[in-house]
Amino acid sequence: MCGIVGYIGQKSAAQILVEGLRRLEYRGYDSAGVAVLNSSGIQLRRSPGKLSVLVDLLKKQPVEGTVGVGHTRWATHGRPSEENAHPHTCCKDNIVVVHNGIIENYIELKKTLTQKGHIFKSQTDTEVIAHLVEDAYTDDLRDAVQKALKQLQGSYAIGVLAANDPSHFIAARKDSPLVLGVGENEMFLASDVPALLPHTRKVIFLEDGDIADIRQDKIELTDLSGKTIERKPQTIIWDAVMAEKAGYKHFMLKEIYEQIVTVRDTFRSRISLEEGRVQLEDLLPLEVAQKLPKICLVGCGTSHHAALVSRFWFEELTGIPCDVEIASEYRYRRFTKEPGTLIVAITQSGETADTLAAL
Ligand code: GLU
Repeated sequence: MCGIVGYIGQKSAAQILVEGLRRLEYRGYDSAGVAVLNSSGIQLRRSPGKLSVLVDLLKKQPVEGTVGVGHTRWATHGRPSEENAHPHTCCKDNIVVVHNGIIENYIELKKTLTQKGHIFKSQTDTEVIAHLVEDAYTDDLRDAVQKALKQLQGSYAIGVLAANDPSHFIAARKDSPLVLGVGENEMFLASDVPALLPHTRKVIFLEDGDIADIRQDKIELTDLSGKTIERKPQTIIWDAVMAEKAGYKHFMLKEIYEQIVTVRDTFRSRISLEEGRVQLEDLLPLEVAQKLPKICLVGCGTSHHAALVSRFWFEELTGIPCDVEIASEYRYRRFTKEPGTLIVAITQSGETADTLAAL
């Protein structure tokens, strides 16, 4: 999962985009970026790592403009780096795209686009979208996005800008979430409601196949064939904490329902469909894994319970004996450790003091 935000209105976009991305940080990411439009064109700022790195960059190289998109990336294709961070641009830097999801047929599309003379700057699947839109664009961005989307297989939530027309931007989705925020002479786009709440409670949830043409004073929704869709905004009555719970009564309940997406997102950067293989060597080289005498999983609370479940899988799949220890006790035990044991410490926040001490 990554985060997408967008803004069009009369205020300075950069601040609103960064604030929105901050409210989506809980979704996880490895890099971040924004693109803001003004009369001199697109201003792109991207950086791997934490949002604070992007914020520092924006302090040194500020961007001016009242329309823009922002993104926090969770890499699936191409390592986390500046050139792979979103937004991505087309050859002439006129079209800008942020994307959440995976374009399954990007290799074929990239081949065709390259044969047509398009030059690619990143290793991402996303960049094909920018070039497809560029290919189809004359003067109607919505129409060009519609033509591009018809060629895509896979999942997407996207925000698309054209540098030569700062009066609007386009959003669309299939199998990845997007929600529009309706303000007074300003409109917002986000992957999730918490990013919108400081600005508006009037929202429109996009559905699969929707394309939204977003202007300061109006939003037009169409389907993939260009047919108009009527959908009234709804008013969110959740507060910020409830919004993070996405309408579920408890975080635990939300997280139970999110397991399918979470497991898929965790694995997707490690499963190479093109090569038909699972990539784990950078975590644990095969020759090291094959010589392990033992595995020991250490964690507290829910992480400890996760370890209890995964012990079954480690033993079943690897045949290597696997212990589970509670970190708060492990740290005080004085026992003989078997040399070469693989210790895996589990903590969701990365900050559980007992687990760090055990490690
Ligand atoms: N597949 C895209 C990439 O790797 C988007 C990943 C995301 O959803 O953050 O850049």
